[in-house]
Amino acid sequence: MNSTTTGPIPWANRLNRLIDQFHQVHGGDRFPIKVEQLILDIPDTLKTGEPITVKGDVMDPEFEGALFNLNAGQVGQGHWAIIYNKAIISSGRIRFTLAHELGHYLCHRHLYGEFNCNEADTLHWDSPERQLENQANQFASYLLMPRPDFEAQIGSATIDLDILGGCADRYGASLTSAILKWLEFTTKRAVLVMSRNGVVQWSCGSNTGKWLSMALNKKLPNGRRRELPACCSTRLNTDSNVDREGRQMAARVWFPNEPEDMPLREMRVVSDNYRQTMTLLVLPPELKPWEAANSQQGRR
Ligand SMILES: [Zn+2]
Repeated sequence: MNSTTTGPIPWANRLNRLIDQFHQVHGGDRFPIKVEQLILDIPDTLKTGEPITVKGDVMDPEFEGALFNLNAGQVGQGHWAIIYNKAIISSGRIRFTLAHELGHYLCHRHLYGEFNCNEADTLHWDSPERQLENQANQFASYLLMPRPDFEAQIGSATIDLDILGGCADRYGASLTSAILKWLEFTTKRAVLVMSRNGVVQWSCGSNTGKWLSMALNKKLPNGRRRELPACCSTRLNTDSNVDREGRQMAARVWFPNEPEDMPLREMRVVSDNYRQTMTLLVLPPELKPWEAANSQQGRR
């Protein structure tokens, strides 16, 4: 085993190089990655000496997946089992869960004998267990959607939900996963907002859009989550809740602190699990304070 391959991203990159080599020799579709077959092949390919079995079962809706050692207590001589919930309708979510469990196997199997991945959301954000969950998610994201390929798919196109949906299809991923991946590397100021019944559930921003997503995630003084702005398209057009290319409006509709003439493009679609609405906001670069002052003076 390569001793320099320690973290989730180096592991994902290494596996992608192996998959590249395989397809260069044997042909076939490079994407989406056949995760289950990959998992079964890994112990032989990497000569870990610790086989893995994969089993899907119809289980409680909350259950996503788990990895555990059938030879509990025998570090280095494990026989590992990955179980996942076949009742989950989204094949993208199952694919991500399987890749997540493979991430635990590669990165963490020497630490624990069992990974129950359904309680992750309830863990404190800086707890050691949560860190492992985040690493397994990072591994899955980099394995299933390699950044160089993703960037090549986007090219210089104006981003919209059709383009990101095309990437989701290519990688066999959910649209949410594909958007989160894009947010990781884009230089654009962009924010994903998940809402239900007009109330923000959670939001995630690109590097330059972090402050905007933090404003949406911040709860109200009464502890409740924020409602969507009254005049945003997502709220006004509830009967046709799909706008994949987006409509332009004043950024202040969403973010009152933005300059008056700052535009914003709002795209939206009902999300993969049909319960939430997904809104993607893209804004031009932030105006520096001195630029904003000049801009306001210019309008007076
Ligand atoms: Zn996990």
